[in-house]
Amino acid sequence: SSMAIQGDDHRVKLPEVKFTKLFINGHFVDSVSGKTFETIDPRNGEVIARVAEGDKEDVDLAVKAARKAFDHGPWPRMSGADRRRIMLKYADLIDEHGEELAALDSLEAGKLFTVTRALDVAEAANCVRYYAGTADKIHGQTLKMSSLMQGNNTLSSFQGYTLLEPIGVVGLIIPWNFPTPILLGKVSPALAAGCTMVVKPAEETPLSALYLARLANLAGIPDGVINVVNGFGPTAGAALCSHMDIDKVSFTGSTEVGRLIMQAAAMSNLKPVSLELGGKSPLIVFNDADIHMAVNLAPMAAFFNKGEVCLAGSRVLVQEGIYDEFVKKMIEKTKDWVVGDPFDPKVHQGPQVSKKQFERVLSYIEHGKNEGATLLIGGKSVGDKGYYIEPTIFSDVTDDMTIAKEEIFGPVMSLMKFKTVEEAIERANNTKYGLGAAVLTKDINLANRMTRSIRAGVVWINCYFAVSHDLPFGGYKMSGFGREMGLEGLHNFLQTKSVVSPLYDSPW
Ligand code: ADP
Repeated sequence: SSMAIQGDDHRVKLPEVKFTKLFINGHFVDSVSGKTFETIDPRNGEVIARVAEGDKEDVDLAVKAARKAFDHGPWPRMSGADRRRIMLKYADLIDEHGEELAALDSLEAGKLFTVTRALDVAEAANCVRYYAGTADKIHGQTLKMSSLMQGNNTLSSFQGYTLLEPIGVVGLIIPWNFPTPILLGKVSPALAAGCTMVVKPAEETPLSALYLARLANLAGIPDGVINVVNGFGPTAGAALCSHMDIDKVSFTGSTEVGRLIMQAAAMSNLKPVSLELGGKSPLIVFNDADIHMAVNLAPMAAFFNKGEVCLAGSRVLVQEGIYDEFVKKMIEKTKDWVVGDPFDPKVHQGPQVSKKQFERVLSYIEHGKNEGATLLIGGKSVGDKGYYIEPTIFSDVTDDMTIAKEEIFGPVMSLMKFKTVEEAIERANNTKYGLGAAVLTKDINLANRMTRSIRAGVVWINCYFAVSHDLPFGGYKMSGFGREMGLEGLHNFLQTKSVVSPLYDSPW
C-alpha cells in the first residue's frame, strides 16, 4: 500500500510499514504482554501503525539475547577486519533503502523529506562506514614498567600492556528528533568495538529503528548483537537503565530524563553512562559580521527541523551597531519561511513531532508574551489539523525570562541586544547548558577570544550546524558529558585492561 499526502497535489509514495514488532535475537516478536501502542502522523494526528509495546519482561529477554551474543557469540571474537567488512555491507544496505528509511522518519517525526533523505540517512550510512574503518585499528599499548624497588634493591622489571576490550552489553536510548542518525551514531561505534546492544527507540519514532534492525540482519550481523525494544521511557527505558546485566548506557534526550538515567544507573549496578542532553545555544553576531550571512544563518539555526534540535541556536545575541538592520532583514527572511507538509520540497518547516510538544512550545510562547518580551513575528499555530507552529521571533529578551533559560525545542528565537565583547561572553555563558555556540565576525582575534571563553562543546565561527561523524560532539555543564563521534566516540564502548608479566625472570 502507499499513502498520498494530504492538502497538496504533490504526491510522494510512502513505503508500506513492514516491521512493527520487537526485534529480539534476530527475530521480530510480539511483546510478552501482547500490548501495542500507536505511532502518530504529526501532519494530521492520525494513526500510522500499531507497534508492539515492550516493557521490563521484553527488556529482560533482549538483554539475555545480547548477553549470550556477547559471552558466546562470534561478534566480539571475530577480527576487527571481519566486523569492518560486515559493517560496510550494512552501510550499503542503508543507502539502498535510504528512501524508505527517510520516509519513515519524515512520516513519524514531521521532518522534511528532502533533509531526511539527503542528510539524515546519507550521513548515518557514512557514520557506519567511518566506524567500520576503526574496527581493525583498535589496540592497546606496550611498555616496560618502572622497576619495583624494595629499599635500595631493584625487585624486578615488568612488561605491561593494555587490551582495549568491548565494554559489553550496552543500552542505547534514542530520541525522536533525528531517529536514524542518532541511532546509528551510537550503534556504529558499539558495533566496531565488538559490543552487543539493546536499543530503545523513542516511542514517537520506532519504525526506522525496526527497519534498521532488519537491515543489520541482512548484512550478516549475528543474531542477538542488535536488539530493539520499542516502548515508553518510564517502562522499557527505565528497565534498561536499571538492568543489572547492562554494562553501559548511552542516552540522547532531555536533561530531565538524563538525570533519571544517571540515577537509575547509580542505584543498580553503577554502569557508566554517557549523556547528550539539552541546549540553549547562543548565536553571537558582532558589528563587523557579514550581514548577509548572519540573516541566512540565524533562521536556519533557530528554526531548522522545527527547532527540534539540541544544538538549535535559540538565543541570538546581536551587537547594537548591527542590531536594527539585522532585525529588519530577519523579519523579511522569516516571512518567506514556508510551513507545511514535510513531503513538499517547497516547505521549510513541518509539524512539531507530537501534540505534547506542540502544546509545550505554544505554552513557552505564552510565557514569552507574559514575561514582557516583544513578539516580532509568528507566535501562533498554523492550520486546523496537525501540529504546525509559525516560526516565532521575540526581541527585548532578558536573560532571566523563561524563554531565554529553558530549552523550548520549537521554532522560537530569542533576540538579545548587547554592547561589548565582555557582555557577549557573560550572556553567552549565562545558561545552565553548554552544547553549541556560534560567533559571526571577520575579526580572527575576536573569534579566537570567543571560542576560548564560551563554555560549550562546539563553537562555530561563521557557520552553524556543521557537525559530522568525524568530529567529537557533546556537552559542557548540564548539556551532558561524554563525547560521541570521532575516535573519541569509539572509547565510549571500550574499556582498558592492563596485563603485566615479569620482563626477564620472575622475582618469586
Ligand atoms: P522528549 O521529552 O523530548 O520526548 P526524552 O528525553 O523524554 O525527550 O526522551 C528521549 C528518550 O528517552 C526516549 O526514547 C524516551 O522514551 C526515553 N525516556 C524517557 N523517560 C525515560 C526514563 N525514565 N528512563 C529511560 N528512558 C527514558
